Amino acid sequence: MPDKILLLPDNIANQIAAGEVIQRPASAVKELLENAVDAGATEIKLIINDAGKSLIQVIDNGSGMSETDARMCFERHATSKIKNIEDLFQIRTMGFRGEALASIAAVAQVELKTKKANEETAVYIEVENSVVKKQEPVAAPFGTSIAMKNLFFNVPARRNFLKSNAAEMRHIVDEFTRVALSFPSIFFSLISNGQEIFHLEAGSLKQRIVQLLGNNYNAKLVTVKEETDYMNIYGFVGKPETAKKTRGDQYFFVNNRFIKSAYLNHAVMNAYQEMVTTDSFPMYALFIDLDPAVVDVNVHPTKQEIKFEDEKLIYAFVQAAVKHALAQFSVTPTLDFDLDASIQQLPSIQQPFTQKKQDAATSTPIFKGFTQKYQAHFIESSRKGELKHWREFYEGKEAITDERLPNLGASDLATDSGQQPSLISENAELTQLLNTYIVIPTTNGFLLVHQQGAHERVLYERLKSVALGQPIATQRSMFPVTLELVPADASILEEIMPDLNQLGYLIEPFGKNTYVVQGTPADVDQGNEKVVIDTLLEQYKNFSNDMKLSRREKLVRSLARQQAIQSGLRLTEREMQGLVNDLFACEQPNITPDGNPVYLEFKQDQLERMFGKL
Ligand code: ADP
Ligand code: MG
Repeated sequence: MPDKILLLPDNIANQIAAGEVIQRPASAVKELLENAVDAGATEIKLIINDAGKSLIQVIDNGSGMSETDARMCFERHATSKIKNIEDLFQIRTMGFRGEALASIAAVAQVELKTKKANEETAVYIEVENSVVKKQEPVAAPFGTSIAMKNLFFNVPARRNFLKSNAAEMRHIVDEFTRVALSFPSIFFSLISNGQEIFHLEAGSLKQRIVQLLGNNYNAKLVTVKEETDYMNIYGFVGKPETAKKTRGDQYFFVNNRFIKSAYLNHAVMNAYQEMVTTDSFPMYALFIDLDPAVVDVNVHPTKQEIKFEDEKLIYAFVQAAVKHALAQFSVTPTLDFDLDASIQQLPSIQQPFTQKKQDAATSTPIFKGFTQKYQAHFIESSRKGELKHWREFYEGKEAITDERLPNLGASDLATDSGQQPSLISENAELTQLLNTYIVIPTTNGFLLVHQQGAHERVLYERLKSVALGQPIATQRSMFPVTLELVPADASILEEIMPDLNQLGYLIEPFGKNTYVVQGTPADVDQGNEKVVIDTLLEQYKNFSNDMKLSRREKLVRSLARQQAIQSGLRLTEREMQGLVNDLFACEQPNITPDGNPVYLEFKQDQLERMFGKL
């Protein structure tokens, strides 16, 4: 038997290894920016074309490399940052594994120009497929410029995995933001397709936060600063009123390295307890500095997950520091958790849903119109689980007659809502409870419908069908609202613009990262466009983690949630009727687009059992 084991050629080994470090353009951006930081640069420029798919270039004014180093840096495990294993526990640089440039050179065409301050000429090197193609002396300022072109040109499978330009650009902006936040004393600029979208002068952390995350944080930041022998923490947390509906502007840095930690996030959220609702997320940018010997940053190739020697201690410290900061700046709880007294006085609370009311409802003509003999047929013909479910509320009563429901078939039920029977009687008395729930009497119990969830479902199905057909009519805004967005949000808005138009929003660009809302959907009240769009962008970011959802789906869900009537809104009898009818004309009335129940069913025998009567 011949021997079978071969050593992989370097370029293939590098391509495989590259998969761990360079997943997408943004990973390369991170590595190149960190190299520039490690080289001691005070000015770093990032140039992107085509969301990094065709060009990612980083130009710095750092130390530069000698001719030999310039060739060496593309080798695997080539690093100037550690020499032995002990160094691994005293890491002060961003990089140390010596993998990034080797990985980049394996999956892109790379052009490196670099010069040390004391050298006469710069060296220019071209690398492709891990092989040096060209090397020559050139004239250049000191520092380093690395351009990587056509990422994954030689790994088509990975290239095909890349997302839309807007999505990849968002990842790039995220990485840029993280690095720029951790080094406010370095000038950063980001140029995308020839347009400078960030120009960040060196300054304080506070200035950097406002430059990057938006002016709305100006004067809304609380300083955090605690020092101990074991560790220091500093940075800023947002005042509770700046909390957003989705996680977003939350950053932890350990020894200036951005990290993800659900555990430490929990510590911060704990400090905010009772100041923000559980479903909102305050901004924070917190820097923890401690002896590198007590952190292991080597647990993950991209180093975003790290291990602490004593995690509990750090948790307690972070929590205490943030609490202290919030208390010191006398940021007092702004939310009142008591039930509004006025709610207690509402007639719907004072007068319970009586048997008499229920009897009145069930004796209405529509309930009587149901004939037993058609019921089996009805259930059978409906393969749609939901209508079948709905039928069960009327178990034992007479089914709808054929006159009311001509040729009812499964497909009719599924698609043609106009054909669907109004299963709720126009005369059935509906009751609103707590300005949040609608009680619908059924033949043997009642349904408790959540008004917000119900409306969300109705709007969702309506918007979804619009998204595929005729656009929604737009009403011109009387007072067009201007939206000034951070670049990341602007790129999301650009991405969803065609869909927004279809759904009735007319938004026009108005200079860099600025837009004007010229029109809104005809059937939606004007006045809160800004909130709607802001929330939309926030929610969109939230959903963007969920790869299974299409762009449209995300947008439609978000708008449905936005436009839905809220809990706490008093509804007239007519509004309730309309809503309930619309709900049960839906394909899937029982759950919200997010999968929460829209209504709960209470049957009399269950109730009797609960009262110990059965
Ligand atoms: P690491 O950063 O982990 O050391 P890299 O593959 O990112 O590994 O870089 C390899 C080496 O190339 C670095 O250790 C550094 O010596 C050199 N290098 C990379 N980028 C730059 C730069 N922008 N300026 C100066 N030296 C650089
Ligand atoms: Mg590096």
